[in-house]
Amino acid sequence: MLAMDYRGPCRVRATHIPDPCIEHSEDAIVRVLRSCICGSDLHLYHGLVPDTRIGTTVGHEFVGEVVDIGSGVQRLKVGDRVLVSFSVFCGSCYFCQRELFGNCHDTDPQATAVGGIYGYSHTAGGYDGGQAQFVRVPRSGAGPIGIFAAKSAWLFSDGRVIVVDHVEERLAFVKDYAQCEVLNFRSVVDMAINLKRMTDGLGPDVCIDAVGCEAEGSALQTLTGVKMKLQGGSATALHWAINSVRKGGNVSIVGVYERNARAWCSRCSPMKLAMK
Ligand SMILES: [Zn+2]
Ligand SMILES: [Zn+2]
Repeated sequence: MLAMDYRGPCRVRATHIPDPCIEHSEDAIVRVLRSCICGSDLHLYHGLVPDTRIGTTVGHEFVGEVVDIGSGVQRLKVGDRVLVSFSVFCGSCYFCQRELFGNCHDTDPQATAVGGIYGYSHTAGGYDGGQAQFVRVPRSGAGPIGIFAAKSAWLFSDGRVIVVDHVEERLAFVKDYAQCEVLNFRSVVDMAINLKRMTDGLGPDVCIDAVGCEAEGSALQTLTGVKMKLQGGSATALHWAINSVRKGGNVSIVGVYERNARAWCSRCSPMKLAMK
């Protein structure tokens, strides 16, 4: 089959490799019909993710059709159309029982910081990903992120939603799609002060970092995090989230960071912030 393989920093190549096969009684083989290229694939592409090995097939968001199943699979049959989540999880370990599926221990027992993820380095289990014709989906069970986060926030709350970005087309789209207010960070001198001014001086109840380690908006963060790799990426959005949220508020980190991003977590304890 054809698969998009990682060949080293800033190099990927469509390569012919053997088709995947059932390795475990609860595996399924999925023929990929549509696959996304995620912002997080750029972290791999730029060499920011530790232990990304030559030959890894990238891609962690895909839909497809089940073409083969292991003898233990009960809830799927050949021919089913499926949407595959980026996390590989077992559904029964200590973490899965607490609905922390992204931390599943069974699918990445060597790691204490992350579970298994398709096409996302051996740090995340070394599973081949979905930018390929076929994918092995272990223990078969059941993207753009900021826009979905904004839409979800609007759907599940009766409050205001403010989206921060710098791409005008995206801001125009999300303003209409998610009924939110928008803020272009290129036009803002101090994000925290700006967001607090917009919210009666207190700050938003919840700040969601939906960007991760390649956030733009700070030349210093980009230099030290992305170019020089002195920290786990550019933590600009995370800094903004921690500094903008109201005291006692929630900071949710959907974006991916590598190693220790030096966000100002020392502020989280005195401010009684909850990090998720
Ligand atoms: Zn992704
Ligand atoms: Zn699990």
